[in-house]
Amino acid sequence: MADYCSKVPENVPGPWYVDATCTPCRTCLDVDGADSLIKWNDDETYVYFHEQPIGDAQVAIAEEIMAVCPTAAVGSDGE
Ligand code: SF4
Repeated sequence: MADYCSKVPENVPGPWYVDATCTPCRTCLDVDGADSLIKWNDDETYVYFHEQPIGDAQVAIAEEIMAVCPTAAVGSDGE
């Protein structure tokens, strides 16, 4: 389970975030529409939410990103 207290600093404020357990394996980037919400940090050592999902379609993308992450690095309990 992702930990809000260890979310990476680039995440935009809001409920969705990536925490420090991102490996990064790239799996989530294969989700259709993922690039509208997440992208690499400058060093490509992890990904982060550059946008919070707005509306049902984008929330569905965020939920899929969470579902496919093998390290459970994606959380939706942030602020
Ligand atoms: S699927 Fe999870 S571990 Fe892999 S790049 Fe995405 S957030 Fe990081």
